[in-house]
Amino acid sequence: MSYYRCLSTLGNAVKKNSQEHAFSELVKRLSRFASHDELIEYSQRPIDYCYGNHMIEACSPQHSTRLCLIKTAADLHEQLLVRVAHCICHFQYLPFLPAANPTLLSINERYWKLFKKLAHFSTIKTEADEEKFFELINLFKAQNNDIIGQLSSGCREAAKYFKTYDIMKTFLDNVLQTRLSMRLLSDHYRELHKQKKEPKPNDQWRGAICMNFSPAKLVQQCIADVSSVCFETYGVVPPVHVENHLHQPIPYFPDIVEYIVRELLKNSMRALVEYHTVLFNDLTHVKTFFEDHRQDPLCKVLISADPEDEHFTISIQDRGGGIDEPIENIFQYLFTGGTAKEEKEHNSTYFPYSYQDPSIQFSKRMYGYGFGLPICSLYAQFFGGSLTFAQVPRIGTDVYLRLGFIHTDSERIKI
Ligand code: ADP
Ligand code: MG
Repeated sequence: MSYYRCLSTLGNAVKKNSQEHAFSELVKRLSRFASHDELIEYSQRPIDYCYGNHMIEACSPQHSTRLCLIKTAADLHEQLLVRVAHCICHFQYLPFLPAANPTLLSINERYWKLFKKLAHFSTIKTEADEEKFFELINLFKAQNNDIIGQLSSGCREAAKYFKTYDIMKTFLDNVLQTRLSMRLLSDHYRELHKQKKEPKPNDQWRGAICMNFSPAKLVQQCIADVSSVCFETYGVVPPVHVENHLHQPIPYFPDIVEYIVRELLKNSMRALVEYHTVLFNDLTHVKTFFEDHRQDPLCKVLISADPEDEHFTISIQDRGGGIDEPIENIFQYLFTGGTAKEEKEHNSTYFPYSYQDPSIQFSKRMYGYGFGLPICSLYAQFFGGSLTFAQVPRIGTDVYLRLGFIHTDSERIKI
């Protein structure tokens, strides 16, 4: 049921004299927190952070004590209970109307169910317990793949009920950050489980950490993926060139870098296609123009590292015409520089594909969630880095993604 239908259902209930029931049901759902002692107790516990170096050491073959999956699972069990309880708290701090939004309420209830399942799961002591826990973690992953899309829809629906943008931003930052750490820890455990059950000789993975991660290879793969989404969306793909100055592989969580680079490439490719389509007024001209620039690419990705500062940088420079908006706007949740206006003005002939179709999976959409940059920036900060932009109007944009090394004794990256 949509939010508005839900509210109007509440309204109709007044007429039918059943408002009290509908309203008290909603209040009951929202106030269960106060009566759940175990949840309150876990939500008050401080987060016990994990660090990249420790995670690598704990599962390296040279480690003195062999990796014990039972202990890893038992630790994760506790870590998740605290983090899920914290996550539910973030929903609890929402003002009443946004909290009552059915989409946000359903995410909140998913975390509730997750907490209950974890709380009912008895202490992991045997291999059989660990196997059951592994199944549970797999299930959670499968069931919660769409959280970002759901958060985006819920906040969009409830946007006018947030008194200030900062209230929404704090809520989203907190939920997404807790979700990221839960995801990293769960994925790490899942991979450790698989690697222990089926060890591969000379395996370069330690759980979800790839020990010989090459940003350049990943960038090439992202260019191929995003090019195909771009082609499906616009029917044309701009050329992208990679210049790599980081030849030493580093240990990293490749999924995170992949997520960010894909979002940044989507933005650059979209800008390139749309800017040149408006400029040339014809898609065939754009195709020819892009073909002519195969050797002198309109988008360049530069990769380098600063080992002393324990960082690596991926910078994307495009000739997509720059950003029309003040830079701070593009880092706002729900902000999307859509082309609806241009589409209308140009009778929809410029961008022939239905790229705004909400049924299209998040990763397959070129844009539209308005969550791309705020999430990328949040993830970069989580990993001790930053995401910054510079632009020259009517020429193009430079994006600098800095990420901190995880194989470091410094404890600045807290997972
Ligand atoms: P979305 O892609 O869903 O619109 P993002 O958060 O990824 O959301 O980007 C927000 C906006 O920032 C984009 O809609 C676009 O207007 C602007 N933007 C981001 N990157 C670029 C770029 N490389 N060139 C031009 N505009 C950009
Ligand atoms: Mg985007």
